[in-house]
This record gives sequence, C-alpha cells and structure tokens, in this order.
Amino acid sequence: MSANITFTMIKPDAVQNKFTGKIIDKILEDGFEIKAMKYLHLSEQQAARFYEIHKERPFFNDLVKYMSGGPIVAAVLIKENAVESFRKLIGATDPQKAEPGTIRNLFAKSIEANAIHGSDSDTNALIESSFFFSKLEQF
Ligand code: UDP
Ligand code: MG
Repeated sequence: MSANITFTMIKPDAVQNKFTGKIIDKILEDGFEIKAMKYLHLSEQQAARFYEIHKERPFFNDLVKYMSGGPIVAAVLIKENAVESFRKLIGATDPQKAEPGTIRNLFAKSIEANAIHGSDSDTNALIESSFFFSKLEQF
C-alpha cells in the first residue's frame, strides 16, 4: 500500500508572480487535503540543507541562491498514493517537457525556476515534511 503523504513548496518564482492562489486551487481540485502550510523565506543555509542530496550537482549553488531569493509556501498534503499523484500533477522538472495542464507547464519559467517542489518518495516526503513541520502540526 502506498503512503498518503507528500510534501510541496511553491517556489520563489511562483510566489513572486502571484501564482500561489492558482496553484493551491489546482492542488485542491486534484483532491489533495492540506494538513499543514506555512509561508516563509529560507536562508541560504536552510536551502542548502534542504537540497543537500543535490550538493554535487552542477546546478547546486544556483539552486540554493534561487530558493533563498524570496518567500516560499511549504505544505504537507494528503491523498491516496500522494507522492506519485502529486508528481503527475506538477509535471516534469523541465517545464518545456511538462505535460499540458500540469502546474509546471502552466506556471514555471525554466528548469530552475520551475514553480513547485514535490517529494520523490514516501521516505523523502516524511523527511522533507519534518524539515518544516513538527509532528504535532502535521497530524
Ligand atoms: N534543477 C536545476 N537544473 C537542473 C535540474 C534541476 O536548476 O538541471 C533544480 C530545479 O529547481 C529542480 C531542483 O533543482 O526542481 C531539484 O532537482 P530534481 O532533479 O530533484 O527535480 P524535481 O524532483 O524537483 O523535479
Ligand atoms: Mg527532486
């Protein structure tokens, strides 16, 4: 049985472009329930810690600067088969390759400034949720 939790961030480009409301609408219309949500501005240090898994990748330094360059909205979402279902809703990392109607297809600017994050596994969904929210807030 798949777990029912995923973690998302509406990224700085989408918040700055005033897409937050439209993106939350898409998430709710797709059947996700919001279990926890907060608006915050990551420091470079926090962004580097969140994306530590990518620290050897060539885009890491730019990614950290971009993710700490403006406020984000972080949220824990609930739905059956949440991780896979949410990855489908947001579309491919590169918005040029994202299916029509997906959040990245509609709202992302580039492969870096791609509007939204979605966890890639049940394990990472829990790790990433715990990065921003205490258990008490989550459940
Ligand atoms: N990213 C980038 N250049 C790349 C690949 C990724 O700037 O060539 C950024 C982009 O913001 C992406 C994040 O790094 O969302 C994490 O990359 P990952 O491969 O985990 O993509 P995701 O899981 O977000 O689709
Ligand atoms: Mg990823």
